[in-house]
Amino acid sequence: MPDDNKPVALIGAIQFNLVKRGTAVATEQTLVIIKPDGLVKSLTGNILSRLSETKLIIIGAKIVRVTEALAKEHYKHLSDKPFFGELVEYIMGDVHNTHRVMALIYQGDGAISKVREIVGDTNPEKANPVSIRGAYGRITTTGVFENVVHASSSAEDAEHEIKLWFKPSEIVGDIYPTKDVVREKVHEKDWA
Ligand code: UDP
Ligand code: MG
Repeated sequence: MPDDNKPVALIGAIQFNLVKRGTAVATEQTLVIIKPDGLVKSLTGNILSRLSETKLIIIGAKIVRVTEALAKEHYKHLSDKPFFGELVEYIMGDVHNTHRVMALIYQGDGAISKVREIVGDTNPEKANPVSIRGAYGRITTTGVFENVVHASSSAEDAEHEIKLWFKPSEIVGDIYPTKDVVREKVHEKDWA
C-alpha cells in the first residue's frame, strides 16, 4: 500500500476521463414531435431554433396527420393510465382543432440527451423554466401535461419511434437495417 495515494488517484482520474470520453459520445438518432399545441401557438420556428443550439443535424422532417392507431402505438407505454384517452386526443390534435404535428429526426453525438436537456422535464411546472416545456407547456384542468414537444428518451425508444413514424425512404442516410419489398397494386395519389 503506498503511504500517499495521490499518484494512484491521479492515474485513476485520467483513466476515468478517457473511458468516459470514449463511451459518452455515441452517434444517436432521436425523434422529436412538435405537438399540436406547439403548432397552434406558432412555436415551430422558436423550437427549431432552440434545437439548433445542439448542432445536431436533421435527417428527416414532415407534417403528419396523426391517426388514432399511430397515437395509441406511440403512447402504448401509458395505456393503463387514467389520462390515456385524453393523451391520445391531444396528440391527434382534437383538443387544439388542428390535425397536424411536425415530426423530425435529429442525429449526432449524444443526440438523445442533448435534445431532452433543451426540451425539459415531462411536467412543465417542474421543468427548467428556460427549457421548451418549462417556457411554453401547461397542465390542463384535467391534469394532462400539454408540453409542446415530444423527444425520445432512450436509444431503444428512439429506434421504435423512428420506425413507427418514418419509412426508410423518408430519411436521409441508412440508420437501421432495411429489406427490399416489392408491392404490387399499391393505390396512392399522384399529381394529376
Ligand atoms: N403525460 C401526462 N401526465 C403524466 C405523464 C405523461 O400528461 O403524468 C403526457 C405528457 O404529454 C408526456 C406524455 O404523456 O409528454 C408521454 O409521457 P412520458 O412519460 O413518456 O414523458 P416524456 O417522455 O414525453 O417526457
Ligand atoms: Mg416518453
